[in-house]
Amino acid sequence: MTEEITREKWLLSRRQFLKGAALAGTGAALAKAGIFDLTPARAQGTTHFLPGPTADYQVYTMCEMCVWRCGVVAKVRNGVVEKLDGNPNHPHSLGNLCARGQSGLMMTYDPDRVLAPLMRVGERGSGRFRQATWDEALDFTAEQMLRIKDTYGPQAMVFSSTHNLSQPLFENLLNAYGSPNYGTQRSLCFNAMVTAHLLTYGIQEPARRYDGMKYIILTGRNLMEGISTSETRQLMQVISEGAHVVVLDPRFTKTAAKAGEWLPIKPGMDLAFHLALINVIVSENLYDRNFVNNYTVGFDELAESVKPYTPRWAAELTEIPEATIYRIAHEFAAAAPFAFAHPNWRTSNFVNSFQTERAVAVLNALIGICPEQGDCIFPEEDHVGLGSPPQPAYPRISAQRLDGVPWKYPLVPLKLGVFQEIRDNILTGQPYQARGWFFSRQNPIMSLPDQAKTIQAFEKLEFIVSVDIILNDSSWYADVILPEATYLERYDPVLAVGNRVFIRQPVVESLGEARSALWIYRELGRRLGLQDFFQYVDEEDYIRQQIAPFGVTLEHLKQVGYFDVPREKKSGERTWDTPSGKVEIASETLRRAGFSAVPVWEAPPEPPAGRFYLLTGKVGQHTQFATQNNAYLTEVDYHTHDLWMHPSSAAERGIRDGDRVRVVSDVGEVEITVWVTEGIRPDCVYMAPGFGHTSRGLKKAYGRGANASRVHVTYTDPVSGGQALTQTFVTVEKA
Ligand code: SF4
Repeated sequence: MTEEITREKWLLSRRQFLKGAALAGTGAALAKAGIFDLTPARAQGTTHFLPGPTADYQVYTMCEMCVWRCGVVAKVRNGVVEKLDGNPNHPHSLGNLCARGQSGLMMTYDPDRVLAPLMRVGERGSGRFRQATWDEALDFTAEQMLRIKDTYGPQAMVFSSTHNLSQPLFENLLNAYGSPNYGTQRSLCFNAMVTAHLLTYGIQEPARRYDGMKYIILTGRNLMEGISTSETRQLMQVISEGAHVVVLDPRFTKTAAKAGEWLPIKPGMDLAFHLALINVIVSENLYDRNFVNNYTVGFDELAESVKPYTPRWAAELTEIPEATIYRIAHEFAAAAPFAFAHPNWRTSNFVNSFQTERAVAVLNALIGICPEQGDCIFPEEDHVGLGSPPQPAYPRISAQRLDGVPWKYPLVPLKLGVFQEIRDNILTGQPYQARGWFFSRQNPIMSLPDQAKTIQAFEKLEFIVSVDIILNDSSWYADVILPEATYLERYDPVLAVGNRVFIRQPVVESLGEARSALWIYRELGRRLGLQDFFQYVDEEDYIRQQIAPFGVTLEHLKQVGYFDVPREKKSGERTWDTPSGKVEIASETLRRAGFSAVPVWEAPPEPPAGRFYLLTGKVGQHTQFATQNNAYLTEVDYHTHDLWMHPSSAAERGIRDGDRVRVVSDVGEVEITVWVTEGIRPDCVYMAPGFGHTSRGLKKAYGRGANASRVHVTYTDPVSGGQALTQTFVTVEKA
């Protein structure tokens, strides 16, 4: 039985919620702005049963306020989500949620949500839409996608998506459709880290173990603000137990504040610092001989190549004293096996970031990656063989990829891609012209560098469709917007964390006509003639097929929130998934592609006189470009959307705290308020990402702060394909 949510009940529930949350007055609907009517309507065809609006209950599910996916216990009163707590059974939350996770209910109750399909009626970018039925919006979308496929070939349709649990279904759609063109946030984030660790260890993302750690080097990994609840807690725990943490960052972040040592390194010089650590550890025989001899290849080549990279050499480049570098090399090696250099996360900083990540990976190998502890840098151990609906093979794709992989970027993993290159090739029309773009909960206008170029690329397209929850800046340019239900309203595919499988399930009924991605892609697939790729009756049927191999019922999973899969015991000699089967200190793959086989110094560009490095980096209150309209998080924004500037640099320009300034790069300019602080090097300024939204469909976020993507210049690391986000140089003057 399905509980019908009437308009009256929803309005009543929402009023109660807003009252309880002291948020009355924040509910201005877009309808009031005359843009479109957001009349809530009953979600049709939902297959789950939930208690009615008067029942009090709690539901186990997973957070989606960032990609860490903490376990959540959602508490509902009077049909409204009242409180979100961390699920103690989930290894990512360990009973806690960060501020974003706790504020997640405001994503569901955001008055700016899109609650019905929308179709553009005004000029593209005018933000004028009309409400449509699902049938009308899906039929039109399918018609346009089929027209593009028939006229220009499937490669003329670009797809792009964020990292989310329904992403495999989106990828299923694009693969079945037959397009090779897929853009993700990966090249704007962690391409350098993943590519370097694949080439060194054969693993994409090394897991980290903190128990007993005594020495940790963080190179721009700001765990106190780029929060991953469990890992952030683990770091805090080992700090409280006396671990020495060294933070290299040109900015005094909250992680730097908690560290034992903050080194305000010159931007782009982290590579020199790590090469110097390697130099000392190798030349003074401080490395783990047993591990290096038995489990690695290429040590001798490294030993020869790092000879010039002395602490004295690195001191000039990094502006960190020679003695400090030398001391850290000794302390780090002495603390092994209870030490590691964090592999980092967003590593798209400079065009030399791949080399920096290779140096980090090799440094860990030299100290034996903690073999006595079972490794602190290690691959995820468990592979849970989830079931899936049957489907035919994908059509063969012969067209070149617009992102240049592999014809321009031979070593970028196909899965990572080079998103910014797709945008640039839409503009040039080379090697062929793209005609359509389908993005799923992604905001390329904000996330890609050089916003003006992205808007020009949008203008060249014949059709744009977006799946989203709110009317973000890129959806503002779409022809069709398909409204997705929030993570508190929908099912997603299950997620295995280690050997434990978790469910994301509806906590409350969907508002309006918002639907799950599982439903949207199946319905669109059917209209595209791709129904054989979406063989599930509904969301619950999809999950039942996923968990079928384990003899667990969906009812049990919904009630408990997870189930465990027995661990397989590993046996035999330790090997790595690399061509040599060992940790590759020297990589023949790199050599064959024309790059240095061992980590090597590559000087990053430096700003000309009068210009600053423009730094970017996370704040604890927000996730990328997606949370700035959240009513709770907005209340705790403090200097988050200001430009950080050192007092000496400000004084030279007659700039005072709170002044408005103009930040100008080679591709654009923004106006922003200055925060004068000693927490940044004098040669740098810093802007948080995600502010300066241009969509008027985001009432709270619109116009607040400035948008860094307007000034970011597009530079791509030639090995990993990562966008070098800190390689933009700007002038700052009073507005
Ligand atoms: S780290 Fe915070 S935002 Fe991310 S999943 Fe966990 S609670 Fe949610």
